[in-house]
Amino acid sequence: MLPFAVRKFLYYGYQRVRTRMLGCVFCRIAAREANATILYEDDQCVAFEDTHPQAPVHFLVIPRKHIISLNAELADEEPLLGHLLQVAARIAKEKGIDRTGFRAVINTNAEAGQTVFHLHVHILGGRIMRWPPG
Ligand code: AMP
Ligand code: ZN
Repeated sequence: MLPFAVRKFLYYGYQRVRTRMLGCVFCRIAAREANATILYEDDQCVAFEDTHPQAPVHFLVIPRKHIISLNAELADEEPLLGHLLQVAARIAKEKGIDRTGFRAVINTNAEAGQTVFHLHVHILGGRIMRWPPG
């Protein structure tokens, strides 16, 4: 087995080449050019099921606009960021995990585990979450 640092380096290299060749997968989902189970959409955002769920409920909320991560220039994006969270909470309620609890996660850059470089809010619920996260 290759060391973790080498696997991470290879994985991010692969992701960069893939994005250059195919374009951003989340932009393609927002444009309905790639398949996804869409839960909600409006002029600012799209919410869809995560293809590799890490909890009984696991969906993503993305801005339509291609923002790479929370490291981007966000001074003009405060209403959009608030909207993403509001939509996320509304869908969590519709899915019945508001009372039991849910977790909102925004992975930012490699060491946090970001693999898709289009800002997205993960909402996870339906099971007991551990703290601190791994
Ligand atoms: P992150 O690792 O925080 O960048 O999260 C990316 C998430 O996107 C992962 O949980 C993936 O399972 C999910 N994902 C990747 N491609 C797709 C796709 N085409 N449709 C839905 N979810 C996806
Ligand atoms: Zn994108």
